[in-house]
Amino acid sequence: MQASIFLEAGKEHAVLHQHPWIFANTVARYEGKVGLGTTVSVFNDAKKLIGRAAYSPHSQIRARMWTWDPEEPIDHAFFKRKIASAIEHRQRWVKDTNAIRLIFGEADGLPGLVVDQYDKLLVCQFLSAGADHWKEVIVQILAQQTGCESIYERSDAAVRQREGLELHTGLLFGKPPEPEVLVQENGIAYLVDPINGHKTGFYIDQRDNRRLVMELAENRRVLNMFCYTGGFSLAALKGGAKHVTSVDSSGDALAIAKKQTKLNEFDENRANWLDQDAFETLKNLRVAENYYDLIVLDPPKFAPSAAHLPKAIRAYKEINRTAMQMVEKSGLILTFSCSGAMDMETFEKTIFMASKEASSHQKTGDLKFRVLKRLTSGLDHPKLTCFPEGDYLKGLLLERV
Ligand code: SAH
Repeated sequence: MQASIFLEAGKEHAVLHQHPWIFANTVARYEGKVGLGTTVSVFNDAKKLIGRAAYSPHSQIRARMWTWDPEEPIDHAFFKRKIASAIEHRQRWVKDTNAIRLIFGEADGLPGLVVDQYDKLLVCQFLSAGADHWKEVIVQILAQQTGCESIYERSDAAVRQREGLELHTGLLFGKPPEPEVLVQENGIAYLVDPINGHKTGFYIDQRDNRRLVMELAENRRVLNMFCYTGGFSLAALKGGAKHVTSVDSSGDALAIAKKQTKLNEFDENRANWLDQDAFETLKNLRVAENYYDLIVLDPPKFAPSAAHLPKAIRAYKEINRTAMQMVEKSGLILTFSCSGAMDMETFEKTIFMASKEASSHQKTGDLKFRVLKRLTSGLDHPKLTCFPEGDYLKGLLLERV
């Protein structure tokens, strides 16, 4: 018989409303043999079956819902349906690129599973015990449904440890991937390093915002902070930027960025790449009175959890304040936070505080900014209304007035 978990009276509300996470403190009791990643039936206090979930014995997120249909078994056919539906969504909504997030965890009904497509290569992250438990089945279905040449695992994200899973990387299917995979996006050629790059190799989530930068860059002097392999920098060069300065502390990422500049035949004199600490560099550039017409701030996740939020707010404020003091009148700033623990409201407040502080440090009167647009990830990163945690990437397009 399948193992079961029973939710405490009054604590089943979120799950009943399709929130996929069951926290340890909402579980009243367990029945049967529950194991790492195995499927459990989920009952409410009145012993009514709510659905089925994957069990995570070591995590505060004790189980993740696979289905709210008591009749639906969790088997090969279940994963076949979910994966087919995720792929169909991308075919409908994502065009003109071969760098696509094919599966985005909870948003595709597959908690903990991330699959990114880079041309004929798929790179997977199995970030929950449940996704890990079904790895073989998932890989087999992915190979069948996508016709890909290779499937590579990058389950080297720290969240695995909270699930009691070891970090793991390696080939899962087909031939070993190239160390640099060529992809196309917005008419630009990018090189993705699936083996040593960040996450699965590329920040697919910024595609629409890279396009926006391309559209806004003409004749502007651009500063791209935390540039990684230069996604925004190349978009700015393509869009006709006068000059682009890009900063990152990863030499490997910058090496790829430079290769891509050549590959796209952009004039190398229009770009310079600084292998430096972004906080120091921002300060130094400001002291040296450098001014820009377009600044991109896309830092790493400063708040990995709610506990880090106060410190993270200070860091976001610092970089935004400094950037605000370096942007010309009518200049633009695209500023981002990819911290899931920071919601849009908190981010907007932080930006407001940064602009206040930027003004008070300024010799030449007030600095004023307006929000032209709120920014988010692309349509291959769908967001569930019942799962705000999935809406991690937020940004603002600011104009100095
Ligand atoms: N904007 C990029 C993604 C940025 S990810 C894109 O669109 O592809 C965050 C980047 O910040 C990483 O490349 C990381 O190497 C860099 N980084 C982290 N801390 C840094 C620091 N203190 N100074 C400079 N770069 C830093």
